[in-house]
Amino acid sequence: MSVRSVIVIGAGAAGLAAAERLVSDGLEVTVLEASGRVGGRIRHLEGFADFDIELGAEEVHGLENCLVPLVEASGADLIRHETAHDYIRYDGKLVSLGEARAGEDLREAFDFIAKVSNFSGPAWTVEQCLVARHVPGRAWHYLDSRLGVEHGTTLDRLGMRGFAGYEPNWQSREENYTVRQPYVRLLDPLLDQVRDRIRFGAVVARIEWGGPQALVRLAGGEDLRADAVIYTGSVAVLRDTPPEFFPVLPPEKREAVASIGMDGGMKIVLKFDHRFWPEDMYFLHADTFWPQFWTPGKGRGGRAHVLTTFVSGARADFLRQLEVDRVEFALGELDRIFGGRIASDHCLDAHVEDWTAEPYVRGLYSFPLAHTEPRHREALAAPLGRRLFFAGEATDLGGHSGTVHGAIDSGRRAAEEVKTNLET
Ligand SMILES: Cc1cc2nc3c(=O)[nH]c(=O)nc-3n(C[C@H](O)[C@H](O)[C@H](O)COP(=O)(O)OP(=O)(O)OC[C@H]3O[C@@H](n4cnc5c(N)ncnc54)[C@H](O)[C@@H]3O)c2cc1C
Repeated sequence: MSVRSVIVIGAGAAGLAAAERLVSDGLEVTVLEASGRVGGRIRHLEGFADFDIELGAEEVHGLENCLVPLVEASGADLIRHETAHDYIRYDGKLVSLGEARAGEDLREAFDFIAKVSNFSGPAWTVEQCLVARHVPGRAWHYLDSRLGVEHGTTLDRLGMRGFAGYEPNWQSREENYTVRQPYVRLLDPLLDQVRDRIRFGAVVARIEWGGPQALVRLAGGEDLRADAVIYTGSVAVLRDTPPEFFPVLPPEKREAVASIGMDGGMKIVLKFDHRFWPEDMYFLHADTFWPQFWTPGKGRGGRAHVLTTFVSGARADFLRQLEVDRVEFALGELDRIFGGRIASDHCLDAHVEDWTAEPYVRGLYSFPLAHTEPRHREALAAPLGRRLFFAGEATDLGGHSGTVHGAIDSGRRAAEEVKTNLET
């Protein structure tokens, strides 16, 4: 039998994982990547501080996932972060999370998280659920940061059923690690096997999947043919600016795309001439427009004083409409938290990474809307005929959508589907 050929669209975590699996099985693989680099939503900024700053994925959630062997194989080191180093700001005060947790209001927030897997109510958002339970404002702010931002959205969009159903995933997010080296280095063991198969600047404009071979047309007009295609673009790209599919995607696939959330968002990285926050601080959950700030250099041994802030969902949409300087706005909020003009007067440099504006990503990562059901992710992941296969974090069926390890699992799953299909 002749060597079978596969085109993988996208050189993010899912695409590299799929390609590596297929290459190791002797298939002829071409990876088409629209941008000029690998990693997709894993990207870092060099030269801003004396350590690299992660602009996309930053944490490894738990140690029981497929990233752990890649950490070892790449020679990277993980830094463990305890929530004991988190702070919360309310009533004009900054208190450690441990201290705040003892108070009645915050206990309600932790209680809500602890009992979330018991939820069996209607198709509500988390916000509707908090209103119905009369959760107090202080607890609300904390949940906004811990749940809303963590899922790349805001509580008015995060679906309660889906979120409650993803409890195992949420648990693993309790144990977070950062990578001392650039995060993208974790993909090196995959990349080493497929480096020479990647074509950069290759924007896929059309995918024909109905014939005896698949045809992929690039934006410049070049046509490529293969026995199978794995598509790994984000669910927001599929929703807003998909390649042209021929035949068109069937109704179940289109319903799935419309039923899974993926919102816009941005990170702003701020460098200061001195530290004005507590020395042991990792996260700060704040009752300001910017719901969380953190210290990206924690545990990395750098001397630069850097804070990152992150905004997502409805807030990110609102911010994009506001005619304000985003950096000045974030600095103003830090001034309100720490007093005077401590942030505004001591900021040395800033970087804004707006993922909504990335043409081949268009947002952060997928999350469940109020009406999202498991069947939607299954339909998103399902192959079409014998030629077109789907991977990417939003297609992960193991409860780890929205993560790097979920993306890798999905790429490996799609590679197995392709192999099974080509063997029969
Ligand atoms: C700000 C931010 C913070 C995050 N934090 C974390 C975290 O701490 N921990 C964690 O585990 N996860 C985190 N994530 C999520 C994680 O980064 C993603 O789940 C994961 O990287 C997605 O990988 P993927 O391969 O599915 O998609 P992508 O990384 O989006 O890769 C898809 C690739 O396809 C390419 N592409 C799209 N359309 C086309 C086309 N038409 N032609 C050719 N190429 C195309 C894109 O350029 C891209 O490179 C974060 C993400 C963001 C944005």
